[in-house]
Amino acid sequence: MTNLKCIICKGDIDKHYSSDGTMYWDQGHNAEPIADGRCCDRCNEDIVVPHRMADIFTEHKNYYKEDNDGKSTK
Ligand SMILES: [Zn+2]
Repeated sequence: MTNLKCIICKGDIDKHYSSDGTMYWDQGHNAEPIADGRCCDRCNEDIVVPHRMADIFTEHKNYYKEDNDGKSTK
């Protein structure tokens, strides 16, 4: 079984082991919307998750901006 590579940093994707040594997780995280593939723990935490947070924040800003522009269709 080959190691999956992180699509962002090209490093090996971390394997997670349970306390008895059984590997139960080696598929990485969904790297979208940064990249179409899988990424490692570090890239997920440092890049993908903050990016998603920023996207949510931006959507909210646009929503309120439109609201304030008075373009109401109601
Ligand atoms: Zn990575």
